[in-house]
Amino acid sequence: MEILILFGAPFSGKGTQGEILSKRIGFKHLSTGDVLRSERKNHTELGLKAEEYIRQGQLVPDELLEEMIENELIKCKSEKGLILDGYPRTIPQADTLCRLTEKHGIRIKRVLLLDVPHETLIERGVHRGKNSDRIDDKDPNVMNRRIEVYHQETKPVGDYFIVRNLTVRINGIGEIEEVANRILNSI
Ligand code: ADP
Repeated sequence: MEILILFGAPFSGKGTQGEILSKRIGFKHLSTGDVLRSERKNHTELGLKAEEYIRQGQLVPDELLEEMIENELIKCKSEKGLILDGYPRTIPQADTLCRLTEKHGIRIKRVLLLDVPHETLIERGVHRGKNSDRIDDKDPNVMNRRIEVYHQETKPVGDYFIVRNLTVRINGIGEIEEVANRILNSI
């Protein structure tokens, strides 16, 4: 089993592209945001703990996610591959993922960095806010906060994998189909 990490800011299109890529190459798509939303719906301990952070546009603490990620990796072991969307989002999470993949004999194949300029993220955010029922898509301040958190905590993870020669930068501007083809060509 190998992992493709789909990496980018909020509203960069990770979710959309993850779905498309999953259908095209037969890898399972795992969005940590989706997992947390489903945990919340099911009133699990993790879901309830995560809710307050998500509502404020903050990251859920690293230690709350480790067990969930390891369980998901174990579940996916018989899959051809995994598209990881939304993890790792901090340097400690990147360390955790590297440790867990080593432990379970999984290879990180590539990190696909979806590159979208700040103004476009804001435009897409405004658009998504109108059509979304997510608790973190309602308030423009929370949406901006998520982009800020990305710059402070998540962007360094891109550099972490550049040093390991795993990162490929993908232009995330344009039609969905166009971006999907760029991603496909890069793997
Ligand atoms: P987006 O599409 O805006 O990037 P996601 O659906 O991936 O949002 O995630 C929604 C929220 O779930 C994040 O803002 C964060 O609070 C929480 N979350 C998801 N993945 C992680 C993670 N790896 N570490 C910490 N928090 C996370």
